[in-house]
Amino acid sequence: AAFPSSVPTIPTAPLTARIRDALRAIVGEKGLIEDEHGMQPYVTDWRGLLVGGAGAVVRPGSTEEVSKVVRLCHQHGVAIVPQGGNTGLMGGATPWPAHTGILLSLGRMNRVFDVDPVGYAMTVEAGCVLQTLQETASQHDRFLPLSLGAQGSCMIGGNLSTNAGGVQVLRYGNARNLVLGLEVVLPNGDVWDGLRALKKDNTGYDLKHLFMGAEGTLGIITKAVLKLWPAPKDICTAWLAVRDPSAALEILSEAHAASEDNVGSCELMSRSAIDMILRHIPGVQDPLRADTPWYLLLEWSSARARRDGTEGMSEKMEQFLADQLEAGRVLDAAIGQSVGQSRNMWRIREGAAAASRAEGPGLSYDVSVAISKIPDFIDKGLKAVLDILPSIRPYPLGHIGDGNLHFSFMGPVGMDQQTLNQYTAAITRAVNDLVTSMGGSISAEHGIGIDKLDELSHYRSKTELDIMRTIKRALDPQNIMNPGKVLRV
Ligand code: FAD
Repeated sequence: AAFPSSVPTIPTAPLTARIRDALRAIVGEKGLIEDEHGMQPYVTDWRGLLVGGAGAVVRPGSTEEVSKVVRLCHQHGVAIVPQGGNTGLMGGATPWPAHTGILLSLGRMNRVFDVDPVGYAMTVEAGCVLQTLQETASQHDRFLPLSLGAQGSCMIGGNLSTNAGGVQVLRYGNARNLVLGLEVVLPNGDVWDGLRALKKDNTGYDLKHLFMGAEGTLGIITKAVLKLWPAPKDICTAWLAVRDPSAALEILSEAHAASEDNVGSCELMSRSAIDMILRHIPGVQDPLRADTPWYLLLEWSSARARRDGTEGMSEKMEQFLADQLEAGRVLDAAIGQSVGQSRNMWRIREGAAAASRAEGPGLSYDVSVAISKIPDFIDKGLKAVLDILPSIRPYPLGHIGDGNLHFSFMGPVGMDQQTLNQYTAAITRAVNDLVTSMGGSISAEHGIGIDKLDELSHYRSKTELDIMRTIKRALDPQNIMNPGKVLRV
């Protein structure tokens, strides 16, 4: 990825000395970073592919401070790029190089205000790290199901702004489904207080859904009320060598009933993805090696604690796997016999993004199609890409239970990024045309950011783009809120 050559219009009002003084007065010395070295980690994206610009990094400590900062920027036409954990994979949190405004980091706003175990809800600030929130819920014997490889550093405000997916969507839905209420600072500095803990509320448009998945282009999420679930008590994780992707889907379809509706995760991995991860992630062990290019990580979990003498998740899984072996869908399987073994399986799956970064030049497409079309998409997609560049090395993997594939490729051995870039446009067009012709989405869970700016306008209809632009212009007529992301306005 690189910045597209055609740069969108972004406001370039400079941060004058007076505005800098006013910012300092709002957030204090420790809330303002102005030197190049200090700003470097904020303006560089997680992949290390994009390096943007900023007049200053501003780190407010409360909603009130965010509101004052945004109001000030609004008065002077200064652009704002909101940022959480900076783990997004589409460049949404990275300013364009020409950005002269501020980067607003939510990292200091990390308070948990309330955990309500009876109401199964918690109220949190946007800068809370996802893993900290999972642990907080667990201390109250509750479960926050949002779970992804970046959970140790991504923040809930970023998760909601990207409508993150992850490995539990199959059962609990994506980030959008885990929210009861939001507080948002609008592009003019006004605070919208929608911080309600209501399961039912049909009073006009459901405004919170405007801001989730908007990637910071419509306002800054400052607080959220999240839904919780009972904590899982009986978990079984298994690693399956499967015949092919069709068999994987049949296994998943049978697993729902066999687990008594307790399927938590179902992740497809290719042998080439596993080998790449084993090369780069220290300390992980290969759970099993069979004569097949396809593997499945299957996890069942129940909130009901296992009682002596009764059948738990692992007995049910054993029986299920025996049946699937007999049916020829599973070729071999390993059940996690300890927390360590199960954790190892998850470390492999979660290591994909870090391993691909370490591997070197590559391409990755986060796409979705109707679940039953996945095998056909894989066949046709691989053929289309290999026709363009036969030596490219595919390593597909993904959240197969959500119809979501990370259709990924390592560059040919020895090929540098610049040479690979010569093929990127043709490959991207082939993959996205195919996914669109199959009724799928060119961005399943990672969003649009900068990377897919031009793809969105190519693949969404004029009517859809007109509605999106109308909403953007109504809320942010000056185009100061994360300009040049998602949409060209
Ligand atoms: P950032 O990267 O800081 O920001 C993301 C976007 O949200 C930007 O457009 C930014 O401007 C905006 N934003 C951030 N905070 C706010 C706010 N408070 N208000 C308004 N806008 C805001 N994603 C998945 O969906 N599923 C996965 O399984 C998954 N796995 C990953 C694994 C790894 C190892 C990595 C590095 C990334 C993975 N991602 C995954 C992508 C990424 O982690 C998610 O997109 C995550 O939700 C981003 O959170 P963040 O706090 O890092 O946001």
